[in-house]
Amino acid sequence: MSVAKYKRIVLKISGEALAGEQGFGISPEIIKTVAKQVKEVAELGVEIAIVVGGGNIWRGKVGSEMGMDRATADYMGMLATVMNSLALQDSLEKLEVPCRVSTSIEMRQVAEPYIRRKAIRHLEKKRVVIFAAGTGNPYFSTDTTAALRAAEIEADVILMAKNNVDGVYSADPLTNKDAIKYTELTYLDVISQGLEVMDSTASTLCMDNDIPLVVFSIMETGNIKRAVLGEPIGTVVRRNL
Ligand code: UDP
Repeated sequence: MSVAKYKRIVLKISGEALAGEQGFGISPEIIKTVAKQVKEVAELGVEIAIVVGGGNIWRGKVGSEMGMDRATADYMGMLATVMNSLALQDSLEKLEVPCRVSTSIEMRQVAEPYIRRKAIRHLEKKRVVIFAAGTGNPYFSTDTTAALRAAEIEADVILMAKNNVDGVYSADPLTNKDAIKYTELTYLDVISQGLEVMDSTASTLCMDNDIPLVVFSIMETGNIKRAVLGEPIGTVVRRNL
């Protein structure tokens, strides 16, 4: 029988990953495959928290570049993550995976408000918890949300599922054929070399709280399970090597 390397995980899925080839909105096929992969991991007995991005619908930075007030644009981004979270919850429940959406911005009719101890209780009862609405604060990202919630719930690892890349590279592999893929890095490497893994706020939070990160591609079916089993996929980032 397969034995999971981690007891409790935070899975970060970017909004873009949910858009699929259409590049915008939510692809029903993609969300179904993501839900199936999450179910496989839940069947290993792993406690799963998910942070979903919102970039497939709205990014605060784009709004502010268009002349909008940054905070307002960021709140719109946080609302976008709620839509993605509800779509993922729906897909998980269709597969009979118990799931709760916990939002940082209160909207009682839609989902339960984030209460740390309640979220931990859901996890202990083997319910998947989706953290929606980011941190609830403008000027932050869902990567930072993943780092913050991972620290709060004492997760063993953050699994960062990417849609366009299968790990961390020395340069953008889509535009630079000489880019080298790393298997292991420290957070200091990421920050000092300006590698595009997560934003610096999220990286320092992970570093300070000693939370390891695995960056891998979600486009290959079964990769979330592989990452949970500790198979060498993608790139591992830690405080110390
Ligand atoms: N956002 C925010 N505070 C948070 C999390 C997210 O203001 O704590 C906003 C921000 O505008 C961001 C948008 O929500 O652009 C969508 O999140 P993100 O860009 O992190 O999503 P992803 O790139 O993972 O799809």
